[in-house]
Order: sequence, then C-alpha cells, then structure tokens
Amino acid sequence: MATTTKKRELDLSEFPAGTVTEYTTLVCLACIFDIFTKQLGLAPRTAFSEIKRHAPTIEELTSRQATRPYFDSEEKHPHCPYCGSARRWQARFDTYCIEGGKTTDAARRALIKKLPRADEQFLVIEKKSDSRVVFFEWLDTLGLNADFNDDMWPIEATRKYLERREPKTNWDEAFAELRAVRRSSRLSEGWERDDARLFLAPGLYSEAILIQYLVSRSHTHGGLTLEGRLTLVELIRRLRYSGYLDQIGITERDPGEVFEKLIDHLAGKHEWSEAEVRTGSGSDRVKRSKKATRKSTKKRAKSRQTKPTQPQPDEIIAEPVKLHYLIDRRDFLEKVKSVYASYAA
Ligand SMILES: [Zn+2]
Repeated sequence: MATTTKKRELDLSEFPAGTVTEYTTLVCLACIFDIFTKQLGLAPRTAFSEIKRHAPTIEELTSRQATRPYFDSEEKHPHCPYCGSARRWQARFDTYCIEGGKTTDAARRALIKKLPRADEQFLVIEKKSDSRVVFFEWLDTLGLNADFNDDMWPIEATRKYLERREPKTNWDEAFAELRAVRRSSRLSEGWERDDARLFLAPGLYSEAILIQYLVSRSHTHGGLTLEGRLTLVELIRRLRYSGYLDQIGITERDPGEVFEKLIDHLAGKHEWSEAEVRTGSGSDRVKRSKKATRKSTKKRAKSRQTKPTQPQPDEIIAEPVKLHYLIDRRDFLEKVKSVYASYAA
C-alpha cells in the first residue's frame, strides 16, 4: 500500500480561492500509546483498538498552539517535543475547513462522495459559526503567511481579498507580473489592468486598503497600507473623504462605531456572492437580512452600556456560516498499525 502516497492529496480545485483553509498537525503515537498503556493502564492490544478509533477535536487539529500529543513542526525529520520520539512514531492529520455556502456546497458534496468510507479514514464534522469569526480567521491566516518586509505584500493581500470577494474572476491573470495597485479615477465599479498596474474602482480600492490595515495592524504599530502607515483615525478619515463611508451607508461619527460597521460590511461575504461586482444582479435584496438579527441582540447591548465610545461587541450583526471540517485520518490509521506491530513484538 506504500505506493498510494501519490494519490494522497485531495483535489480542491473545484473550490473558489479562500473558501478552504488547510491545517496540518502531527501527532506522536509514542505519547498516545504511553497515555493509554501507562496512564490508563490498558493492555497494548486494547490500547491499539482504542487509539484506532481516536477522533481528535477540531480545536486540537486547528489551534495555533498544539498540545500533547499533538505538535507542529516545519522540519523534515521532526522529533516529538514531548518525548523525543523519531519520525516513525509520528502520524499526520490533515484538516480541511470548508466554508459552507452557495459557492462551495456542490463541490463539497461531490468531494465527500468520492472519499473512501471504510475505517473512518475521513471524518466530517460540522460546526456553526458566523461571518465575523470566519472573517477574522481569514485575516489571521493572511497575516501569518504575509512577509511584511516584502514590498509586494500589500498587493498580495489585495489579491487575496479580491479572490475572496469575487471568486469567479481569474485573478491569476489580473495579477500576473503586476507591480502596482492604484485607485481609479475613471471607473465607478470593478477594475482594469493597464500595463503593470491594476486600477480598482474607489470602493474596491478603499476595501483593499482596509484589508491591508487589518492584516498588518497586529504585527506593526498602526496599519501598513498602500497609502502608507495609518492609524485607525487616519484610515477612517480617508475612507470618509473618499466617499466610501457614504457609499456603504455608514453615517456614524465615532471611530469605534465606524470600525464595527466596516467589519460587518467586509465580513458579510454573502452579500458579495449574491451581488457580484460586475455581473450585478439583485444587489439590494441582500441588505435587508441583516437587520432582523440586529434587533434581537440590541436589548443585551443596551443593558451593558458602560462606555459608549468603545465598540459594542454585543451589537454584532453577523451572518450565520456553517463550517465543514474534513479530517484525513489515513496516515494516522496506517502509522498506528505499524507502530502497534513493533510495539507488540
Ligand atoms: Zn511523543
């Protein structure tokens, strides 16, 4: 069965960019066997059948800080940080988090249908989430993979944002050999390429700046954008003067409130996929749905109103999003078997 390694990777090409997040974590089987035999006092044979059934939690598989017996390593021949065991004692879990929704549902069902069923080689776990959590997770991943010393990173962040916003466009082509992203003074919507420059309509450009700010603000002082280093107040001032706040209906004056509204707007991905920038169908039916959720949360927000200038976490208008986690246990099952064989011998 060792020859099957080539077919290991799942084909995710049917999913729009930015809708699937991949996580890889290593697990030390020596540590697991140790827990089951020494701490729980099970015989090796019993431990083996228990371990085979082991289903890690989503948190264990996707957390940035892994805990025993899980660990992360970039090394080619990593050693277990807890017991020092070598590679043959380690197994890999690959986890795919697929954002539920119109653009991914069909592809997800087709993918799951093709997966082998025996021995629970794959697990599918659903988790309810919302647009804000998903958005911040997405920003976080973007920040972790960004090289802030590279001048190209704001352009790369812009591209990631556009891919998320308009998954049907071929952004590979639009960004090929690109040197600069600029605000267009001609376009009122969409984008155009001119030599090595990409021109974005003012609204899109404002959102690109916002994304750059959000990705970099936790890594640097203020946010780094194509417009230079900006504080939140400076950023909001720019967005106001450029007409962007009016355009998306933000009338608040308080920076904290404006910021919260901006996040809701950016996180509300369902608006985008339904009201696509250039195909432009049904752009106003989506706006309504938010209000209903808002009413129910408002009561709680009021009773806690202590500092009116702070963003109110209870006033969040988030859309529900379903996350589908696909856990690949194949490597784990194989390694457990071979480790047990040497363990029992
Ligand atoms: Zn270990």
